[in-house]
Amino acid sequence: MSISDRKIPNVLITGTPGTGKTTLSELLATVTGFQHIVVGDLVKQKELHDGYDEEFDTYILNEDKLNDELEDMLVEGGKIVDFHSCEVFPERFFDIVVLLQTDNSKLYKRLAARGYSQKKITENVECEIMQVVMEEVYDSYKEEIIIRLPSDTVEQMEQNISVIQEKIESYIQAHSA
Ligand code: ADP
Ligand code: MN
Repeated sequence: MSISDRKIPNVLITGTPGTGKTTLSELLATVTGFQHIVVGDLVKQKELHDGYDEEFDTYILNEDKLNDELEDMLVEGGKIVDFHSCEVFPERFFDIVVLLQTDNSKLYKRLAARGYSQKKITENVECEIMQVVMEEVYDSYKEEIIIRLPSDTVEQMEQNISVIQEKIESYIQAHSA
């Protein structure tokens, strides 16, 4: 599977937990007809993990199992993959990579509203402050396929949808021979 084989792009939506990946992905799936894959749910459903980490309150991802599972799903293109990390995937999986970023105090409130423990809230807000996911994104993908978008307000989310749709359209145009 190489980038040029796909006529329709695969889109990765990434960002710190709480930045709005799932909300944006659902909306994007509705307007594009693309299929939304919530990686966290897939990992649980198909047991693509090596058990639960009590200390970090999360599943221990089995990257090989996850990527084997995704590989087949992504061949055709037209998928929106929603995950808080992006360095686990091979570069060839994605044609468009969207990084969402949120103001720290807004992010704090969203995670608190979700009922996260204080530890988990702090961990994630620090992750956003340190721009951990942003660094991962730029280390893992070519700059020209990355779109970095603010995700503080609903207006921005709507604007983001338009930006991503345009990127999808131009990919499809460039790959229709
Ligand atoms: P993630 O999937 O990245 O963890 P969610 O999509 O679950 O984030 O969003 C977390 C919370 O933030 C939800 O309550 C959602 O309604 C809200 N939210 C998401 N995106 C925005 C946005 N652009 N503006 C305001 N609130 C948002
Ligand atoms: Mn989510």
